[in-house]
Amino acid sequence: MTVGVPKEIKNNESRVGMTPAGVYELVKNGHTVYIQSTAGEGSGFFDADYKKAGAIILDTIGQVYAMSDMIVKVKEPIQEEYQLVQPNQVVFTYFHFASSEPLTKAMIDSSAICIAYETVEDDEGTLPLLTPMSEVAGRMAIQQGAKYLEKPVKGRGVLLGGVPGVAPGKVLVLGAGVVGIQAAKMAAGLGAHVTILDINMKRLRYVNDVMPPHVVTEFSNEFNIRKHIKDHDLIIGGVLLKGAKAPNLITRDMLKEMRAGTVIVDVAVDQGGCVETTRPTTHEDPVYIIDDVVHYSVANMPGAVPYTSTMALTNVTLPYVLKLADLGWEKATETDASLQKGLNIVKGKVVYEEIMEAFGWEP
Ligand code: NAD
Repeated sequence: MTVGVPKEIKNNESRVGMTPAGVYELVKNGHTVYIQSTAGEGSGFFDADYKKAGAIILDTIGQVYAMSDMIVKVKEPIQEEYQLVQPNQVVFTYFHFASSEPLTKAMIDSSAICIAYETVEDDEGTLPLLTPMSEVAGRMAIQQGAKYLEKPVKGRGVLLGGVPGVAPGKVLVLGAGVVGIQAAKMAAGLGAHVTILDINMKRLRYVNDVMPPHVVTEFSNEFNIRKHIKDHDLIIGGVLLKGAKAPNLITRDMLKEMRAGTVIVDVAVDQGGCVETTRPTTHEDPVYIIDDVVHYSVANMPGAVPYTSTMALTNVTLPYVLKLADLGWEKATETDASLQKGLNIVKGKVVYEEIMEAFGWEP
């Protein structure tokens, strides 16, 4: 099979769909891999690295789409790419169709086979191709939070770890899922006092078992949230209700109960956020202030650390890429239930029910 990796052209996206290690594995299995020139540079992989691994470097994005049976990338195709997608071509990437009708219509028109990273689901109901990005965002949330707690950027002026003779900062984590646990771990590592809330007792038991004693678990309810926001310096939003908008656990009126310079990092922004005053921001302009509370709510946090994010993403996508290339998409999705869940649009037909529902389309 011929596999193509275009350079991402979405604003501020430096990740790439395949590393030289992926090229090496595909070529070893007898496939041809086309990499668009400079596609990997933003993640620290250069054309020479890909060539050495066995790839053929192509100059333009048009050539990559025109010459490949399967396209492997990171972000959904943007408008300039719609016309490049070929009939019967497999496109394996994040699509998030339900949030874009124009993209959905364009991919229906393309007659391609669209397999979405975000809907590949394993036996336990977890989303293996989303997990690494939550891990990155959870860890980054503490880095960003610690930075915006500094006084020159309007934070409270608190050092999360404290110093001998001075108590550490306090971090409140909403949600003990992937984001929440990684955030709690980083904050605890810095020496901060951490309170983590969830409604799932299994998750709280797990956190209680694996974290040090300065990470305290409590059940998530409005009473506890109102109590803790008054004296915590940094609040991390890591709540998710699968397929639904995140609940507003912190409402506008609660901001007045926080101390000036408190920082909220609402990682759940991509599902609407778990704070009523959350609105999506970008890496160029990541924060805004309401009622003296600093809000950080960048919707694609992993994009700021493309080297780590590319490696983390491709570690989990490569086994599926290999399966698709070795068996062809039909056999691969027939024999792998996780991959089958990734099928969203097949040759002009939407095959993932939630997409139809999102636009109110009749089946
Ligand atoms: P997850 O499913 O692993 O964890 C979510 C947790 O929230 C679960 O443990 C669940 O029990 C808990 N929860 C649900 N309702 C709650 C409530 N009322 N109070 C407290 N906890 C509650 O999800 P995740 O992978 O950790 O992702 C969390 C969010 O972060 C998602 O919206 C995800 O899309 C988002 N995310 C954002 C970025 C970004 O760049 N901004 C990157 C990755 C993930």
